[in-house]
Amino acid sequence: MTISTDVLIIGAGPSGLFAAFKAGQLELSARIVDSLPQAGGQLAELYPYKTISDVPGIPTIEAKSLVDNLLRQIEPFNISMHLGERVETLSALPDKTFELHTSSGSIVICRAIILAAGLGSFAPRKPDLAGIQLFENKGVEYAIHDIEKFRAKNLVIAGGGDSALDWSMQLATVAQRLCLVHRRSDFRGNPASAHKIKQMAAIGQLELLMNANVTRLGGAEYLEWVEITRPEGTIQVDCNYFMPLFGLSPKLGPISTWGFQIQKGNLCVNPATCQTKVPGVYAIGDLCTYEGKLKFILSGFQEAALAMHAAYSYLNGGKQAKIRYATD
Ligand SMILES: Cc1cc2nc3c(=O)[nH]c(=O)nc-3n(C[C@H](O)[C@H](O)[C@H](O)COP(=O)(O)OP(=O)(O)OC[C@H]3O[C@@H](n4cnc5c(N)ncnc54)[C@H](O)[C@@H]3O)c2cc1C
Repeated sequence: MTISTDVLIIGAGPSGLFAAFKAGQLELSARIVDSLPQAGGQLAELYPYKTISDVPGIPTIEAKSLVDNLLRQIEPFNISMHLGERVETLSALPDKTFELHTSSGSIVICRAIILAAGLGSFAPRKPDLAGIQLFENKGVEYAIHDIEKFRAKNLVIAGGGDSALDWSMQLATVAQRLCLVHRRSDFRGNPASAHKIKQMAAIGQLELLMNANVTRLGGAEYLEWVEITRPEGTIQVDCNYFMPLFGLSPKLGPISTWGFQIQKGNLCVNPATCQTKVPGVYAIGDLCTYEGKLKFILSGFQEAALAMHAAYSYLNGGKQAKIRYATD
């Protein structure tokens, strides 16, 4: 199948979704491709139930509700979304268009590209535990999509970053018993979350084992227990699920082979336009870098606006888009 569009947006995270809104406002045709089966990027894949409290004008919102709102915001523009398709190749054609091929065989011809691919394809960092693959999807989970699955279950979470802290706080409210295991004596994640976890442990809402590591897993067919090693010795903890939440190893995948200037896994852009070194190709959100870059959702929104205005100008012989405010 060959598809033509003005702008192809790669990535349906918050940056890509807001870029689609800006494309609609500027009357550019746009499509979005994302390798995940659902829109929302990290918000949907990593922390759908976490409360976000740093989006201007929205005091608090669950991550999945923010995604729903972003999707509602682009509804009027009927932007097609190709989910579950990874963009594999990109080539610049002599007529200044681009040709991209996706994992499901679609070919997209477009005149500008917004790369909103975040961390790239999601690949969880897995612990080095003998036989762990035998229990994957049989009690070992690297991502949480449905809280209800964990209701009234015994859970062991390992990790000390935001993901481990956020999920421990959330799942402790539904689990029968939750034990958070962390190999250090302090947390890497948000200090406010770390404080809350310690408070929850103090009043028995969860168990907290610091300076501890999960060292073995066991069970007949499904996971039944984990072994936890601490300086004072080893204990066996019965559990239905073990969730090592050690973050994602950034895998840019095909994007890293497309010839962009890359610094520590991010694409270098001109901060005024978010253009990469290739005219007509822009990078926004967590994927892009420039001096002073902050990896926040709100940064991606601003970059989406800058990139789409720059793309408009690029596609219209240098003409600036009129600033339009939505009226109703
Ligand atoms: C646990 C946690 C909590 C956080 N909390 C906050 C918070 O409270 N406030 C805040 O501002 N930020 C928070 N962040 C950061 C925030 O999630 C990111 O800044 C934001 O998700 C970046 O959005 P994005 O659209 O640029 O990229 P992403 O959300 O990473 O989306 C990128 C999308 O691109 C897709 N993709 C990648 N490569 C391809 C390809 N080749 N083909 C097709 N699709 C592709 C991916 O599948 C993904 O869906 C948090 C992050 C984590 C991990």
